Amino acid sequence: MTSSEIKNFGIIGYPVGHSLSPQMYKAAFEAAGFPNYNYIPLQIHSAKLYFAVEGFKGLDFRGFNVTIPHKTNILKYLDAIDSDAMVIGAVNTVVNDGGMLTGYNTDVAGFLAALAEANFLPEDCHAVMLGAGGAARAVLWGLCKKRAEFITIGARNPQKADALAKDFLNYGHVEGFDWNSDEFKELMQTADILINTTPLGMFPHVDDMPPVDLKLLPEGALVYDIIYNPVETKLLRTAKKLGYPTLDGASMLLLQAKEAYRLYTGQLPDMKVMTETLNKFLKP
Ligand code: NAP
Repeated sequence: MTSSEIKNFGIIGYPVGHSLSPQMYKAAFEAAGFPNYNYIPLQIHSAKLYFAVEGFKGLDFRGFNVTIPHKTNILKYLDAIDSDAMVIGAVNTVVNDGGMLTGYNTDVAGFLAALAEANFLPEDCHAVMLGAGGAARAVLWGLCKKRAEFITIGARNPQKADALAKDFLNYGHVEGFDWNSDEFKELMQTADILINTTPLGMFPHVDDMPPVDLKLLPEGALVYDIIYNPVETKLLRTAKKLGYPTLDGASMLLLQAKEAYRLYTGQLPDMKVMTETLNKFLKP
């Protein structure tokens, strides 16, 4: 059934032109019979963030997504923060209920749902993560929620890896290392899963990959790159050649959008439509 109701949604970031969210949500809204649901990319400078957030209330936006560089700074301007977003310290989805703005982080749900679709059980696993930035916090929280037995964080900057591990000390057994250290290389040898959360290999730098020796991983370890553009990164290509199972970042992107759509509308999107739309825009 088609509804003539008008509702507004958007995504804020700086820049924001690269985002594929407008295409994905618009296709899903149309498929669900909401042709008058708008989804607008809005480039907002950090200095204007407060006014933009207040503006969403005035303009009666039902919700909006949040991308770099506002994911952390926006917390202080919201009326309520969901518990996942609070632990992670970042919001990627805001829902407006009659002027009350609540912040969520759907990257955790997307990350875990993608693992589940790949039939990987994080419970009791040894997970090795590369990178200690924003996305790493969502991935780490997902692994802690699922009670991974041990989580090793490797980064080029060991102080950042260590600081991230300390932030999550109350939630699991997490340690941070220099990814060039012998300790880290030894830990790679017992990993059940290796997850890249750095942008190394992302378009246009498609010939880059994190400087780790994949051959150290045990046979059968899952190599997961959360980069989605390109879908198959150099890291995943190399892992496939070595015989490891792999998982790309497109499913996390889709599944975090699925969760945000559910928060916005109370319904689940047509995932076939969302996937086909995304595939039109992603580089293989
Ligand atoms: P971020 O906050 O900037 O963090 C990036 C991390 O990678 C930091 O630890 C950073 O180290 C490290 N790094 C960056 N450049 C590096 C280099 N040249 N050599 C070594 N380490 C480097 O970025 P983010 O928001 O976490 O995003 C990271 C990636 O995840 C992006 O590719 C993004 O598209 C992807 N992502 C995917 C999804 C999805 O749904 N699939 C969701 C979120 C993010 P320093 O701190 O030392 O700079």
